[in-house]
Amino acid sequence: MIRRHWRLILALELIIAMALIGVIAYIHINNLKAEEETAAVSGAKDNGSASDTASVGSGDADPSDTAAQTQKTDGNSGKTATQYTVFVETGHGTDENGNWDTGCTWSDGTTEYVEADVMLPIAKSMVKYLRDSGVTVITDADSGNDSNLFAALDYMETHQVDAFVNLHCDYEGADSGTMPLYRTDEQKALGLALSKGVHEYIDIPDRGPQYREDLDTLNSEKPKCPAVLFETGCISSDNKILTTQYDEYGKGLAKGMCDFLGIRFHEAEK
Ligand SMILES: [Zn+2]
Repeated sequence: MIRRHWRLILALELIIAMALIGVIAYIHINNLKAEEETAAVSGAKDNGSASDTASVGSGDADPSDTAAQTQKTDGNSGKTATQYTVFVETGHGTDENGNWDTGCTWSDGTTEYVEADVMLPIAKSMVKYLRDSGVTVITDADSGNDSNLFAALDYMETHQVDAFVNLHCDYEGADSGTMPLYRTDEQKALGLALSKGVHEYIDIPDRGPQYREDLDTLNSEKPKCPAVLFETGCISSDNKILTTQYDEYGKGLAKGMCDFLGIRFHEAEK
C-alpha cells in the first residue's frame, strides 16, 4: 500500500510540474508578443511626431516603423470602426416616470404626427447604417423609443461612448430645414458633420448650427464625448421628407457621423 501511494504521489508531482512548465511557457510567449506590439505602436508614434517637428537628424527611418503605421486603420483617428461606440437617442418617447412624451405634434387634417414617432424610423436607419459600418451603437431605437434623454445621460455617466446624438424635429411654426444645436466647439463640429452628411442625401434647407445654453443634452457633464441635439426639420413643412425619406435621412446622419469619427462609411443596400 505504501509503495503504491508513493508511486501515485510521484506521478501527480510530475503532472503538476509539467503543467506549470506549460503555463510558464505560455505566459512568456504572450509577454514577448505584447512587447513586440507595444514596440510597433510606439515606433509608429515616434515616426509621426518626428515628421511633425521637421527633419532634424532624420534619415534613419526604420522600415518596421513604416509597416506599423500602414497596418493600422481605415481612418485618420488611430482607431478602427469597431472600436467606436455611438449613442443615438430618439427624441422624447417614454419618460423616466413611464409616461409617453410625444414631443411636438402636428395634424395635416387626417393624420396626427407625433415627434417621438416621426423620429423613430430615422433613428433606426441611422443606427442600421452605423452598424453596417462597424460602429457599436447604443440606442432606444432598438426598443421603440422606450426611454428618454435622462436615461441616456445616466447611461453615459458610467459608460464611455465616443459621440452622442439626440434626434428631434422642430414644432409646426418653425422654419423648414436642418439645425444642429450646440454649446461647445466639439459639439458644433459634430453637428456640422451630421448636417453635411444629411445634405449629401436629402434636399432640405440648412438653417445652420445654433448656439444654445439651455439644453440638458448640451449641458450635462455625464457624457464624456461630443454631444449634439439635431433638429432634423420642421414637423409640418418638412413632414413629407421626414416621414417618407427616413432611410436616406438616417443614411446621411450615419455618413456624417462616420466622417466625424474618421472612419469609412459603408453604404449598404436597403
Ligand atoms: Zn423634440
